[in-house]
Amino acid sequence: MANNFEGHIDHSGNGSIFGWARMVEEPKTRLHVKLSLSNGWTKTILANDLREDLAKAGIGDGRYGFHTKVPYRIASRGEIKVSCQTIEGDFKLEKSGRRLELEYPISLVAGDITNNCNLRCPFCVTDYALVKGMKSMSDDVFSKAAKLLPLVPDGMFWLSCMHEASVHPNLMGLIESVPPSLRKKISFTTNLCKKMDDEMLKALASSNIHSIRISIDSMDPERFAALRKGGRLETFLDNLSRLSSFMIQNEEAPKIRYISMVFENNVHEMPALIQKCKDILPAGVHEIRFIFYQPHIAKWGQKNLLSSKKWNAMKDRIQTSLGMDHVEFFDPLPDTHKSFEQAKDADTYRPSPAVFGGTCSPTNYRIADPITNQAVIPDEPLSFRLRWDGLISHEKIPENDFLHYVQNLSPEYFIKLREASQIGRHSDWQREPLEMPRT
Ligand code: SF4
Repeated sequence: MANNFEGHIDHSGNGSIFGWARMVEEPKTRLHVKLSLSNGWTKTILANDLREDLAKAGIGDGRYGFHTKVPYRIASRGEIKVSCQTIEGDFKLEKSGRRLELEYPISLVAGDITNNCNLRCPFCVTDYALVKGMKSMSDDVFSKAAKLLPLVPDGMFWLSCMHEASVHPNLMGLIESVPPSLRKKISFTTNLCKKMDDEMLKALASSNIHSIRISIDSMDPERFAALRKGGRLETFLDNLSRLSSFMIQNEEAPKIRYISMVFENNVHEMPALIQKCKDILPAGVHEIRFIFYQPHIAKWGQKNLLSSKKWNAMKDRIQTSLGMDHVEFFDPLPDTHKSFEQAKDADTYRPSPAVFGGTCSPTNYRIADPITNQAVIPDEPLSFRLRWDGLISHEKIPENDFLHYVQNLSPEYFIKLREASQIGRHSDWQREPLEMPRT
């Protein structure tokens, strides 16, 4: 009796191909599957027992599964279709011919449309000692940076990372200059402490951006004012309640994510604070974060740092409370307590006028380009910091090897940069000559 084969491609997104194939009458046999991309690249893989891997990804029947990553470099040009065929029995898998969706070349643009903040939180990782005045991203720089929007996943083009977005005099104008189809790429963090009128909050609620991260660490007016120095709880709550009333009217409103920093003096507040935030404006996630070490906050941290024991006790309390499933914890890094205890590098620390790029300006900076300099580019989606004036640095490449102004770069440059990170990284894929169309 002839063997019956079955199988199909389950998933071909984010540069990955998942599928399965088996011989019905011989369940112990494992089949070899040839994966073919429409641009001529092929690879043969064994359909093996991947139950654990595929269950984690929630994809297909892993008993006869296969999974592979397609290197960005071999599939980044044009639309690519993927087909699969078993070597044994020459059986073409169902869903062959489906489109391969590549990973986004850029995983994050951690931008800042200003260089400053309206507050001075004592735990802020940004040292504002040498930051003078408020500088804001111009329409021109923003429009050049916005050309990167198609290259990043939803929510991963940030308007604020190290500073405060809401103090930009034309925040809504920048957002509204982006075509509606690309607004989902945008998100930002805010302390929500600047007084905002109804018009602004209404515009935010209907902006179609992906998400807004809101910082809040205390519901006690005095403690709030000490932790969010320069801010008032009353203003924060007024903004939040009115934002909530406009968001409820809008099904497409941005997702909300709260961020609360926990210290010795506010840890007891956390369960009630999480609940109150949820009551005013429900969020998809409420992040509870431990302080990050920086030399300029060493002294403050020494007085206010939470012990690991209290941090863990707080986690237990919240994790066992009803209705707190949306809470995510960001544990202290392994060396955080030690760094604060020793005030690591505090005696040699010198503040800088900007979080990166020093005193560089668009007129005096020196380009550092890793493609030209043949510097090592990590083989992973690109991740950048973007300054208010357009200076852009890579999060994992030293400034000596990557420093540019975004105004001078095209989206094509970033695709080439991602491709350049994978030179020689596709050895298990083979190039076959494409069949010529008959004439
Ligand atoms: S609100 Fe954020 S950016 Fe501003 S001072 Fe506080 S921690 Fe720093």
